[in-house]
Amino acid sequence: MIKKTICTLLLILISINSYAQESAIELPLIGDRLSGAVSETEEEALGRQFLRDLKRESAILYDPIVQEWTELFIYKIGEKSKVNKKAFELLIIEDNNLNAFAAPGGIIGVNAGLFKYSDNEAQFASVIAHELAHLSQRHFARQILEGSDRSNQSLATVLASILVAVATNSPAAVIGGQGILAAQQLRFSRLYETEADREGYVTLQKAGYDTIQMSEMFKNMQEVRRLSGDNVPEFLLTHPITTRRITESRERAREYPSPGTIDSFNFQLIKKRVEYLMTDNLSIRSIEKDIGENDEDIYLRALIEKKKLNFTRSIELLKSLEKKHPDNLIIKTSIAEVYTESGNIRKSKDYTNKLLAVSLGNYPLSYNLANAHILEEDYIAAEQLLEDIKFYRPVDINLLKDLSQVQKNSNNMLGYHLTNSEFLFYSGRYEEALRDLQEARRIARNNFKIREIITERILILQSYVQPSRRRS
Ligand SMILES: [Zn+2]
Repeated sequence: MIKKTICTLLLILISINSYAQESAIELPLIGDRLSGAVSETEEEALGRQFLRDLKRESAILYDPIVQEWTELFIYKIGEKSKVNKKAFELLIIEDNNLNAFAAPGGIIGVNAGLFKYSDNEAQFASVIAHELAHLSQRHFARQILEGSDRSNQSLATVLASILVAVATNSPAAVIGGQGILAAQQLRFSRLYETEADREGYVTLQKAGYDTIQMSEMFKNMQEVRRLSGDNVPEFLLTHPITTRRITESRERAREYPSPGTIDSFNFQLIKKRVEYLMTDNLSIRSIEKDIGENDEDIYLRALIEKKKLNFTRSIELLKSLEKKHPDNLIIKTSIAEVYTESGNIRKSKDYTNKLLAVSLGNYPLSYNLANAHILEEDYIAAEQLLEDIKFYRPVDINLLKDLSQVQKNSNNMLGYHLTNSEFLFYSGRYEEALRDLQEARRIARNNFKIREIITERILILQSYVQPSRRRS
């Protein structure tokens, strides 16, 4: 019991720390101002607020395998970019329209549609590199500075408007109506887009990709534009593909040719996995018709068989791929996942533990192991694993949600309310988060230390609740 209390206390301390960091960020600081317009700290705070709003209002595509691959990918590209602070948070949006965006604070949003419309990894990279350039060139701050009509608008409104304009096609949902008008007008100017293309090109080259793929991606976008009629995807509204953009990127590639990486097997696997995740049961049949014979097609077929509950067939297909690609962790993790989903818990645990012994702390594998424990109702073991993952992913709302459920099932009600309040907080649902904290304080009423810590956290949260009340 004592051990558990200490453990809980420690966890609260750790997570209160992340709360405090959040709120420290929210405080406007003086200094690092871009000609008196907006500091990087203010930008970042607004970016984080925007992120929480977005998490509340958008359908997030949550899949540890896709998430991990894409995060590592963004870090790899980010490393070669001029972005100052190389810490990124990635949000994959469950939307098949082509879109990607970046927000201050290292927030990168990618629609499922970006995977769909990128033929290869280099094309995907060209869009990410472009988005990172908007961050490194401080386009948000500069745009605000140059905006002529900001006299009557708060900084928050203007920035939110730009963010919403680049991120979503339903601005009303995200910012509750404020500044919608501004959102229509405020996207990056042509000048900034040109600059982002140029900087993005340099990053793409430094990251070792075949730069001609940037203009190939533009051609894909042009094709999407042609086929979309009146229903133009957001990205193409904010990023009109002009002949000039295509020509410039092609000339750049011709002038400084850099025959780099075009594609990878892993990118193709992830692309297929996203396609599978975006497929509902009704459209399985139409997808199946178009599956080809390449290894990545076999991977998609295996996933579809899993969806149809043909687990044996799914494993057969994956095992055949494993034979050809013995070191491929995406394939191996997918096998582990089928074992879990088929209810073969012992096999899943054995197989996953063996892999984890080599890939220590691997996030998708750990998650799979946690799921196996959940299925056998060993909630204590699952809780431990999810807590370990949380240490590295403290604002991952899907993880927080799963963890809170596990805690509820293991009757750890204090843990449940605390974790749930974090889940709600990072989803921009401040009042509900506050209610969970109050409940947690009631449960901890006899434990002075924990109660004090929760009280401190309640005070921090109240400062979020009041402004959002004022806003609405
Ligand atoms: Zn752009």
